[in-house]
Amino acid sequence: MFRIGQGFDIHKLVEGRKLIIGGIEIDYPKGLLGHSDADVLIHSIIDALLGALALGDIGTHFPDNDPQYKNIDSTILLKETKKLIEEKGYKINNLDNTIFAQEPKMKPYIPLIREKLSQILEIDKDLISIKAKTMEGQDSVGEKKSISTQSVVLLIKE
Ligand code: MG
Repeated sequence: MFRIGQGFDIHKLVEGRKLIIGGIEIDYPKGLLGHSDADVLIHSIIDALLGALALGDIGTHFPDNDPQYKNIDSTILLKETKKLIEEKGYKINNLDNTIFAQEPKMKPYIPLIREKLSQILEIDKDLISIKAKTMEGQDSVGEKKSISTQSVVLLIKE
């Protein structure tokens, strides 16, 4: 049995924060603002995984007013989400993502992000797609005020 899920996230770019996307630190003068490490890509992946099994959303499982999640490494939240999926008897068939960022250029980081996600999710890199695009100067992403992501996942019952 297959179950499909989608996720979206957006975070504001600010001074004085590290830019972490897909568990990888990216060289850029600004970072994403959030209660956790604000890893926008991992957040949309978590929402896609939870959505596929109608398990609510990231805020239900990891509330952003809970002090235990302050500045937390989002890869830890992804590992916990993976456990939830496995407890329901599902595994990831494949995962497709788009990062929307006017800056920085994401291309050099995509192989690193795929490798990192492959390690965390314990699936082959070939099952993880990461695409990136600018917003052609439009919208808050295009104005370099934010970065957003979309994720789609297909789960299969083992
Ligand atoms: Mg988020």
